[in-house]
Amino acid sequence: MENIESKVVVLTGASSGIGKATAKLLAQQGAKVVLAARREDRLKEIVGEIVQAGGEASPFKADVVSPEDMKKLAEFALTKYGRIDVLVNNAGIMPVSRLNELRVHEWDQMIDVNIKGVLYGIAAVLPSMRERQSGHIINVASVAGHTVSPASAVYSATKFAVRAITEGLRQEESASSRIRATVISPGITETELMNTVTSPEVQAMAAHLKDMSIPPERIAGAIAYAIDMPEDAGVNEIVIRPTLQS
Ligand code: NDP
Repeated sequence: MENIESKVVVLTGASSGIGKATAKLLAQQGAKVVLAARREDRLKEIVGEIVQAGGEASPFKADVVSPEDMKKLAEFALTKYGRIDVLVNNAGIMPVSRLNELRVHEWDQMIDVNIKGVLYGIAAVLPSMRERQSGHIINVASVAGHTVSPASAVYSATKFAVRAITEGLRQEESASSRIRATVISPGITETELMNTVTSPEVQAMAAHLKDMSIPPERIAGAIAYAIDMPEDAGVNEIVIRPTLQS
Protein backbone atom coordinates (compact mmCIF):
# COMPACT_ATOMS: atom_id res chain seq x y z
CA MET A 1 0.00 0.00 0.00
CA GLU A 2 2.59 2.51 -1.15
CA ASN A 3 0.19 5.46 -1.52
CA ILE A 4 -0.68 5.46 2.17
CA GLU A 5 2.86 6.04 3.39
CA SER A 6 3.43 9.53 4.83
CA LYS A 7 -0.17 10.64 4.29
CA VAL A 8 -1.64 12.70 7.11
CA VAL A 9 -4.95 11.11 8.08
CA VAL A 10 -7.42 12.56 10.59
CA LEU A 11 -9.97 10.07 11.92
CA THR A 12 -13.04 10.74 14.04
CA GLY A 13 -14.48 7.99 16.23
CA ALA A 14 -10.97 6.61 16.67
CA SER A 15 -11.38 5.52 20.30
CA SER A 16 -12.97 2.17 19.42
CA GLY A 17 -14.28 -0.18 16.76
CA ILE A 18 -13.80 0.73 13.11
CA GLY A 19 -11.95 3.99 13.80
CA LYS A 20 -9.44 2.33 16.11
CA ALA A 21 -8.80 -0.56 13.68
CA THR A 22 -8.40 1.89 10.80
CA ALA A 23 -5.98 4.14 12.69
CA LYS A 24 -3.82 1.14 13.55
CA LEU A 25 -3.82 -0.26 10.02
CA LEU A 26 -3.02 3.09 8.41
CA ALA A 27 -0.21 3.74 10.91
CA GLN A 28 1.23 0.31 10.11
CA GLN A 29 1.24 1.38 6.46
CA GLY A 30 3.24 4.50 7.31
CA ALA A 31 0.49 7.13 7.60
CA LYS A 32 0.64 9.87 10.22
CA VAL A 33 -2.65 9.52 12.04
CA VAL A 34 -4.55 11.99 14.21
CA LEU A 35 -7.08 10.15 16.36
CA ALA A 36 -10.14 12.09 17.51
CA ALA A 37 -12.99 11.17 19.87
CA ARG A 38 -14.39 12.31 23.19
CA ARG A 39 -12.70 9.65 25.39
CA GLU A 40 -9.18 11.02 25.55
CA ASP A 41 -7.86 8.26 27.83
CA ARG A 42 -8.75 5.67 25.20
CA LEU A 43 -7.13 7.73 22.45
CA LYS A 44 -3.92 8.07 24.43
CA GLU A 45 -3.83 4.32 25.01
CA ILE A 46 -4.26 3.56 21.28
CA VAL A 47 -1.71 6.21 20.31
CA GLY A 48 0.71 4.62 22.79
CA GLU A 49 0.26 1.23 21.10
CA ILE A 50 0.80 2.72 17.64
CA VAL A 51 3.92 4.63 18.71
CA GLN A 52 5.33 1.57 20.46
CA ALA A 53 4.92 -0.36 17.21
CA GLY A 54 6.97 2.33 15.42
CA GLY A 55 4.09 4.40 14.01
CA GLU A 56 3.32 8.13 14.11
CA ALA A 57 0.09 9.13 15.85
CA SER A 58 -1.44 11.91 17.95
CA PRO A 59 -4.61 12.02 20.07
CA PHE A 60 -7.05 14.92 19.96
CA LYS A 61 -10.14 15.24 22.12
CA ALA A 62 -13.06 16.44 20.01
CA ASP A 63 -16.82 16.15 19.99
CA VAL A 64 -18.07 16.01 16.40
CA VAL A 65 -21.27 17.87 17.29
CA SER A 66 -19.16 20.95 17.99
CA PRO A 67 -18.03 22.87 14.89
CA GLU A 68 -15.44 24.61 17.09
CA ASP A 69 -13.95 21.27 18.19
CA MET A 70 -13.75 20.10 14.58
CA LYS A 71 -12.07 23.32 13.54
CA LYS A 72 -9.54 22.95 16.36
CA LEU A 73 -8.94 19.34 15.31
CA ALA A 74 -8.09 20.43 11.77
CA GLU A 75 -5.89 23.27 13.06
CA PHE A 76 -4.05 20.83 15.32
CA ALA A 77 -3.33 18.46 12.41
CA LEU A 78 -2.26 21.32 10.13
CA THR A 79 0.06 22.80 12.75
CA LYS A 80 1.58 19.44 13.67
CA TYR A 81 1.90 17.84 10.24
CA GLY A 82 1.55 20.73 7.77
CA ARG A 83 -1.39 19.36 5.82
CA ILE A 84 -4.38 17.01 5.96
CA ASP A 85 -4.39 14.46 3.17
CA VAL A 86 -7.38 12.46 4.36
CA LEU A 87 -10.28 12.98 6.75
CA VAL A 88 -12.20 9.87 7.80
CA ASN A 89 -15.57 10.97 9.18
CA ASN A 90 -16.27 7.78 11.08
CA ALA A 91 -17.82 8.80 14.43
CA GLY A 92 -21.39 7.59 14.73
CA ILE A 93 -24.06 6.35 17.11
CA MET A 94 -26.96 3.96 16.60
CA PRO A 95 -29.62 4.23 19.32
CA VAL A 96 -32.22 2.63 17.07
CA SER A 97 -35.84 2.16 18.14
CA ARG A 98 -39.28 2.03 16.57
CA LEU A 99 -40.69 5.46 15.80
CA ASN A 100 -43.69 4.84 18.08
CA GLU A 101 -41.35 4.61 21.07
CA LEU A 102 -40.95 8.39 20.57
CA ARG A 103 -37.33 8.53 21.64
CA VAL A 104 -37.12 12.05 20.30
CA HIS A 105 -33.93 12.90 22.17
CA GLU A 106 -32.16 9.94 20.52
CA TRP A 107 -33.41 11.01 17.08
CA ASP A 108 -31.80 14.38 17.74
CA GLN A 109 -28.56 12.77 18.90
CA MET A 110 -28.33 10.61 15.79
CA ILE A 111 -28.97 13.56 13.52
CA ASP A 112 -26.39 15.63 15.39
CA VAL A 113 -23.58 13.06 15.46
CA ASN A 114 -24.18 11.13 12.24
CA ILE A 115 -25.14 14.00 9.92
CA LYS A 116 -24.01 17.29 11.44
CA GLY A 117 -20.78 15.68 12.69
CA VAL A 118 -19.91 14.69 9.13
CA LEU A 119 -20.74 18.17 7.83
CA TYR A 120 -18.66 19.87 10.53
CA GLY A 121 -15.75 17.57 9.63
CA ILE A 122 -16.05 18.57 5.99
CA ALA A 123 -16.23 22.25 6.93
CA ALA A 124 -13.09 21.93 9.04
CA VAL A 125 -10.86 20.41 6.35
CA LEU A 126 -12.25 21.61 3.02
CA PRO A 127 -10.62 25.09 2.98
CA SER A 128 -7.06 23.76 3.42
CA MET A 129 -7.69 20.91 0.97
CA ARG A 130 -9.04 23.34 -1.63
CA GLU A 131 -6.05 25.58 -1.11
CA ARG A 132 -3.78 22.63 -1.90
CA GLN A 133 -6.14 21.36 -4.63
CA SER A 134 -5.74 17.92 -3.11
CA GLY A 135 -7.32 15.82 -0.40
CA HIS A 136 -9.65 12.94 0.33
CA ILE A 137 -12.76 12.88 2.51
CA ILE A 138 -14.05 9.46 3.50
CA ASN A 139 -17.44 9.23 5.19
CA VAL A 140 -18.65 6.11 6.95
CA ALA A 141 -22.31 5.38 6.18
CA SER A 142 -23.85 1.90 6.48
CA VAL A 143 -25.76 -0.84 4.73
CA ALA A 144 -28.60 0.87 6.63
CA GLY A 145 -27.97 3.82 4.32
CA HIS A 146 -29.22 1.69 1.44
CA THR A 147 -32.27 0.11 3.02
CA VAL A 148 -34.73 0.68 5.87
CA SER A 149 -35.92 -1.92 8.38
CA PRO A 150 -38.20 -1.71 11.43
CA ALA A 151 -36.51 0.40 14.11
CA SER A 152 -33.90 1.79 11.72
CA ALA A 153 -35.88 4.71 10.26
CA VAL A 154 -33.94 7.55 11.84
CA TYR A 155 -30.54 5.81 11.81
CA SER A 156 -31.10 4.87 8.16
CA ALA A 157 -32.14 8.43 7.38
CA THR A 158 -28.86 9.70 8.81
CA LYS A 159 -26.87 7.21 6.75
CA PHE A 160 -28.85 7.94 3.56
CA ALA A 161 -27.89 11.55 4.27
CA VAL A 162 -24.22 10.67 4.63
CA ARG A 163 -24.31 9.02 1.22
CA ALA A 164 -26.08 12.03 -0.32
CA ILE A 165 -23.59 14.47 1.22
CA THR A 166 -20.63 12.41 -0.01
CA GLU A 167 -22.00 12.18 -3.54
CA GLY A 168 -22.70 15.92 -3.59
CA LEU A 169 -19.18 16.64 -2.37
CA ARG A 170 -17.73 14.33 -5.00
CA GLN A 171 -19.64 16.00 -7.82
CA GLU A 172 -18.80 19.53 -6.68
CA GLU A 173 -15.12 18.91 -6.10
CA SER A 174 -14.58 16.83 -9.24
CA ALA A 175 -15.66 19.90 -11.19
CA SER A 176 -13.10 22.20 -9.60
CA SER A 177 -10.39 20.38 -7.66
CA ARG A 178 -8.64 17.08 -7.16
CA ILE A 179 -10.36 16.37 -3.85
CA ARG A 180 -11.79 12.86 -3.68
CA ALA A 181 -14.89 11.75 -1.77
CA THR A 182 -15.58 8.18 -0.71
CA VAL A 183 -18.39 6.57 1.22
CA ILE A 184 -17.81 3.32 3.08
CA SER A 185 -20.97 1.37 3.90
CA PRO A 186 -20.33 -1.41 6.40
CA GLY A 187 -22.67 -4.19 7.38
CA ILE A 188 -22.78 -5.76 10.83
CA THR A 189 -19.39 -5.26 12.42
CA GLU A 190 -18.28 -6.29 15.88
CA THR A 191 -17.76 -3.02 17.72
CA GLU A 192 -19.23 -1.12 20.66
CA LEU A 193 -21.96 0.42 18.48
CA MET A 194 -24.75 -1.75 19.90
CA ASN A 195 -23.98 -0.26 23.32
CA THR A 196 -25.68 2.92 22.10
CA VAL A 197 -29.02 1.07 21.80
CA THR A 198 -31.28 1.74 24.77
CA SER A 199 -34.54 0.24 23.48
CA PRO A 200 -35.04 -3.16 25.20
CA GLU A 201 -37.11 -4.33 22.22
CA VAL A 202 -34.25 -3.68 19.81
CA GLN A 203 -31.65 -5.10 22.18
CA ALA A 204 -33.60 -8.39 22.25
CA MET A 205 -34.06 -8.35 18.45
CA ALA A 206 -30.37 -7.74 17.84
CA ALA A 207 -28.91 -10.21 20.33
CA HIS A 208 -28.17 -12.81 17.64
CA LEU A 209 -26.45 -10.35 15.26
CA LYS A 210 -23.14 -10.63 17.10
CA ASP A 211 -22.75 -14.19 15.80
CA MET A 212 -22.58 -13.11 12.17
CA SER A 213 -20.62 -9.89 12.62
CA ILE A 214 -17.25 -9.31 10.99
CA PRO A 215 -14.25 -7.77 12.77
CA PRO A 216 -13.62 -4.03 12.34
CA GLU A 217 -10.31 -4.82 10.61
CA ARG A 218 -12.34 -5.81 7.51
CA ILE A 219 -13.77 -2.30 7.26
CA ALA A 220 -10.37 -0.79 7.99
CA GLY A 221 -9.06 -2.73 4.99
CA ALA A 222 -11.73 -1.19 2.76
CA ILE A 223 -10.87 2.33 3.97
CA ALA A 224 -7.17 1.67 3.38
CA TYR A 225 -7.95 0.44 -0.14
CA ALA A 226 -9.74 3.71 -0.95
CA ILE A 227 -6.85 5.78 0.41
CA ASP A 228 -4.25 3.72 -1.44
CA MET A 229 -5.91 4.17 -4.85
CA PRO A 230 -3.68 6.35 -7.09
CA GLU A 231 -4.92 9.97 -7.25
CA ASP A 232 -6.27 9.71 -10.78
CA ALA A 233 -9.03 7.36 -9.58
CA GLY A 234 -11.58 7.83 -6.82
CA VAL A 235 -13.23 4.97 -4.98
CA ASN A 236 -16.79 6.31 -4.73
CA GLU A 237 -18.38 3.71 -2.48
CA ILE A 238 -17.56 0.38 -0.91
CA VAL A 239 -20.33 -1.74 0.60
CA ILE A 240 -18.86 -4.45 2.79
CA ARG A 241 -20.94 -6.79 4.91
CA PRO A 242 -20.70 -10.25 6.47
CA THR A 243 -21.15 -13.02 3.92
CA LEU A 244 -23.99 -14.30 6.09
CA GLN A 245 -25.84 -10.95 6.25
CA SER A 246 -28.93 -10.83 4.04
P1 NDP B 1 -18.13 2.22 18.08
O1 NDP B 1 -19.24 2.51 19.03
O2 NDP B 1 -17.15 1.15 18.43
O3 NDP B 1 -17.33 3.56 17.76
C1 NDP B 1 -17.98 4.79 17.60
C2 NDP B 1 -16.95 5.90 17.72
O4 NDP B 1 -17.61 7.15 17.54
C3 NDP B 1 -16.28 5.93 19.06
O5 NDP B 1 -14.89 6.13 18.86
C4 NDP B 1 -16.89 7.14 19.75
O6 NDP B 1 -15.90 7.75 20.58
C5 NDP B 1 -17.18 8.03 18.56
N1 NDP B 1 -18.21 9.02 18.83
C6 NDP B 1 -19.52 8.83 19.15
N2 NDP B 1 -20.12 10.01 19.37
C7 NDP B 1 -19.17 10.97 19.20
C8 NDP B 1 -19.16 12.38 19.30
N3 NDP B 1 -20.24 13.07 19.65
N4 NDP B 1 -18.00 13.03 19.04
C9 NDP B 1 -16.89 12.36 18.72
N5 NDP B 1 -16.82 11.03 18.62
C10 NDP B 1 -17.95 10.35 18.86
O7 NDP B 1 -18.85 1.89 16.70
P2 NDP B 1 -18.32 1.58 15.22
O8 NDP B 1 -16.87 1.49 15.18
O9 NDP B 1 -19.12 0.45 14.74
O10 NDP B 1 -18.85 2.87 14.46
C11 NDP B 1 -18.09 3.59 13.52
C12 NDP B 1 -18.98 4.01 12.36
O11 NDP B 1 -19.38 2.85 11.64
C13 NDP B 1 -20.27 4.71 12.77
O12 NDP B 1 -20.51 5.80 11.91
C14 NDP B 1 -21.34 3.63 12.55
O13 NDP B 1 -22.59 4.19 12.31
C15 NDP B 1 -20.75 2.92 11.36
N6 NDP B 1 -21.29 1.57 11.13
C16 NDP B 1 -21.07 0.57 12.04
C17 NDP B 1 -21.62 -0.68 11.83
C18 NDP B 1 -21.48 -1.78 12.82
O14 NDP B 1 -22.14 -2.83 12.67
N7 NDP B 1 -20.63 -1.66 13.84
C19 NDP B 1 -22.38 -0.99 10.61
C20 NDP B 1 -22.52 0.13 9.72
C21 NDP B 1 -21.98 1.35 9.98
P3 NDP B 1 -16.17 8.50 21.98
O15 NDP B 1 -17.34 7.83 22.63
O16 NDP B 1 -14.88 8.31 22.71
O17 NDP B 1 -16.41 9.92 21.60
